[in-house]
Amino acid sequence: MTDDKGLILLIEDEPQMRRFLKITIQSHGYRFSESITGQDGLIQLATRNPDIVLLDLGLPDIDGLEVTKRMREWSQVPIIVISARDQEEDKIKALDEGADDYLTKPFGAGELMARIRVAIRHQLKLSTNSEESIFVIENVKVDLCKRQVFLNDTEVHLTPIEYRLLATLIRFAGKVITHTQLMKEVWGASYVQQTHYLRIYMAQLRHKLEENPAQPRFLINEPGIGYRLKTDAY
Ligand code: CA
Repeated sequence: MTDDKGLILLIEDEPQMRRFLKITIQSHGYRFSESITGQDGLIQLATRNPDIVLLDLGLPDIDGLEVTKRMREWSQVPIIVISARDQEEDKIKALDEGADDYLTKPFGAGELMARIRVAIRHQLKLSTNSEESIFVIENVKVDLCKRQVFLNDTEVHLTPIEYRLLATLIRFAGKVITHTQLMKEVWGASYVQQTHYLRIYMAQLRHKLEENPAQPRFLINEPGIGYRLKTDAY
């Protein structure tokens, strides 16, 4: 098959969900494999080497949070967690444990495929190490080599913290980053509880870079979870 885009492993115990995901994923040119338990999912990760894992958090044997932890002990495969509305806390924990993104049931095919594209692109970028030094989003341009930021071709002055926050969001472009992850990346591990810093600095960033800071187009809040730098791909 010339248009093979990769293998997606789904770990999910609900038959209806598996059916929907199988049809959606295969019709978009990906190969598909499925596990009903966490244990089998871990085995398939090791034996089939999938390009992406879609992981339900509520599994009959090992819960998804534990599966995420075990996978991250030895694998960097992108993990997108699938959660129900009452699993908010586990979802955040899974993201903190190294899951890449999440989908809350019910979700549409478009949303699913967009998340998969972002995760695969991010993985390709990491593996080829071709970090581009110029990042453009809407009318904002960031030169990551020179640490300069431009809005409509006029340089914008950012404080060191604001710049670090923006650069971190760019590094994870398109993907959700939890409050804890952002605090660790920008301020350091001892600051993870000080999430009010984040609100203040995000507000400043939006004020400097978004045309309408109250209705941001790319510095997006993920309520109760973290932030996402929205890109064209998503
Ligand atoms: Ca389930």
